[in-house]
Amino acid sequence: MAPLRGERPRDPAIGAERSEGRALDSCPFCPGAEEALGAILQEVPGPEGWHARAVANRFPFLGPEEGLQEVLVETPRHDRAFCQLGPRQVALVLGLYRDRVRACHERRSDWEVHLFRNEGRDAGTSRVHAHAQLVTLQGPTPGRRRLEGCLSEYHSAHAECGICAAGSAGEGSPHPPGPGSREVLRSRHFVAATLWAPLDPYHLRIFPFRHGPSIAQAESDELSDLADMLLRLLDATEALTGGAAWNLLVHDHGPLEQPALHWHLEVRPRLTRAAGFEQLTGTGVCPSDPEADAGRLRAALGHHLSH
Ligand SMILES: [Zn+2]
Ligand SMILES: [Zn+2]
Repeated sequence: MAPLRGERPRDPAIGAERSEGRALDSCPFCPGAEEALGAILQEVPGPEGWHARAVANRFPFLGPEEGLQEVLVETPRHDRAFCQLGPRQVALVLGLYRDRVRACHERRSDWEVHLFRNEGRDAGTSRVHAHAQLVTLQGPTPGRRRLEGCLSEYHSAHAECGICAAGSAGEGSPHPPGPGSREVLRSRHFVAATLWAPLDPYHLRIFPFRHGPSIAQAESDELSDLADMLLRLLDATEALTGGAAWNLLVHDHGPLEQPALHWHLEVRPRLTRAAGFEQLTGTGVCPSDPEADAGRLRAALGHHLSH
């Protein structure tokens, strides 16, 4: 029987532990601690046995009939934060994300797949060893329904995908981006822009140019490109926020091609907290100017926009 969620272990000293480069307590995600892990579902082979691996979550909050929960361990090294992994390793990690999402689609094509990572206490981390989480569940969940509703509405009104339209128009502003633009960085396969209505300063979305519903269809060269872009963006964000906690969210729309639905990622630094007004109304108060944030991010990236 799975242990109760209340028995879930907590790292005793999240920040201190990583800087010491070792587990203060036994860390189940380190090599050699496999007896403390759930079933190993997939491994990316590497010189130390594995580069990254997916395991069943031993402390699921869903019952077995309600959904699947996996932990994606992103490195065997306990002392490496995601931002320190380097583009090659992050490309392998993104490949593991893709493979696990695809495996979930193959098991239950009609279930939602939610993949995310929490970096830092304010983002909800309970373990310091770099990892992402994947949860599948029977939808529709309110967040997914809202997002897909917006994208479907745009498609009905304009007869095109809203994300494709935003990408080709440089997020609705001239290219190359200048003052007044929310575009931050453009690579061969992706474009990153601050949100029109952000929940935190430097709140970003990253869209692939190629239309598709899911990361499950991403090619390896696209993921290498994304790894590079993601690390550069996280680096700039870290410099501007003084190393604030952040979440990475993968918005996936399932395995079926749909003209309105376009997968993408979201990076949200956690600099604000929902106060009374936000809780009462279910809305957010935009704490910063997304065009100015985009300008600061472009400056932090050294105006080095690749095309
Ligand atoms: Zn560890
Ligand atoms: Zn599209």
